[in-house]
Amino acid sequence: MSRVYNFSAGPAVLPLEVLQNAQQDLVDYKGCGMSVMEMSHRGKDYDAIHQEAIATFKELCGIGDDWCVCFIQGGASMQFAMIPMNFLGKDQVADYANQGTWSNKALKEAQKIGNVNVAANCQKDIPTRMPADGEFKWTPGAAYSHVCANETISGAELKKFPDTGSPLVCDMSSDILSCERDYNQFAMFYAGAQKNLGPSGMAVVAIRKEFAEKGSQAIPTMLQYRTYTEENSLFNTPPCWSIYIFGETMKWVKKMGKENLFKLNAEKAKKIYDVIDGSGFYRGTALKEYRSNMNVTWRLPTEELEAQFIKEAAAAGMKSLKGHRSVGGVRASIYNAFPMEGVDCLVDFMKEFEKKNG
Ligand SMILES: *Cc1c(COP(=O)(O)O)cnc(C)c1O
Repeated sequence: MSRVYNFSAGPAVLPLEVLQNAQQDLVDYKGCGMSVMEMSHRGKDYDAIHQEAIATFKELCGIGDDWCVCFIQGGASMQFAMIPMNFLGKDQVADYANQGTWSNKALKEAQKIGNVNVAANCQKDIPTRMPADGEFKWTPGAAYSHVCANETISGAELKKFPDTGSPLVCDMSSDILSCERDYNQFAMFYAGAQKNLGPSGMAVVAIRKEFAEKGSQAIPTMLQYRTYTEENSLFNTPPCWSIYIFGETMKWVKKMGKENLFKLNAEKAKKIYDVIDGSGFYRGTALKEYRSNMNVTWRLPTEELEAQFIKEAAAAGMKSLKGHRSVGGVRASIYNAFPMEGVDCLVDFMKEFEKKNG
């Protein structure tokens, strides 16, 4: 077996142990005589998987009985549409922060549905920063406010969540369960599963029951949050396999200890940022105070050197380091499941590359 160090932004590396357990159980899931992909979503074997996945996730987030966890297909991008369809009524306003590519996409979807106030706009400074505390202008009585916790493409992270005065909705696709966070300050938070939670194919949506109940009943059933909260995401056939791997990944997080993982995440990122800051050759893309611990982005002196860096790294077993095409440069995505050894390998490679080409 030869696994590479996979720095992909998403779909991203999964814990090896989760993959190996899934492999073991693939053809015959724990004596059921069939795989999780083949069994009824109404049967007791699948039901146990479904319930345990939700319970473990809720425990890890520290959210209680007033919350529902839903599995919704269409990824985080479908949430960009569902949120305003459910919660942005005709005579209402929703507040959106424009912090980078993803939050900008979310706000553009909302603009198709209703009135949007851009509460802070750092469009011209993308990809270097997030709005600062004092920059937000929230609307009193807004239907809700929307922020993105971590802009995956720029590598900038919101370090402190604003007090918006309205139900706060947060896109946490790339940094959910990666650091200490009070999840009870939100009305809803969601993540495309393929970065920190599991395989692609769904968004994991945590929503307060009382918030879900406020949603529009005039939209199609499958687009209403209450359909998922009232039927425990079993109104129709859910993405069973994705939910199973998500549940296994949550068990892995629990086993590793989330405090331990959070500490490791900070250490992994620091190792790379230290090389960047200690050199006149590499230059961080995001400003220091907004730096993400999940997606580390940086530039080299020329685009030719960047291409060479990415190519030589790939040849040395470090894959998918190319930055997003809208930003360029290099991006190392180092989610929960990314191993420390991979970071050490990258750091050594960076130092060596600078020595040869600096
Ligand atoms: C990847 C990503 C998305 C889009 O996720 P899909 O599941 O592909 O729709 C949205 N927001 C953020 C912050 C992301 O990183």
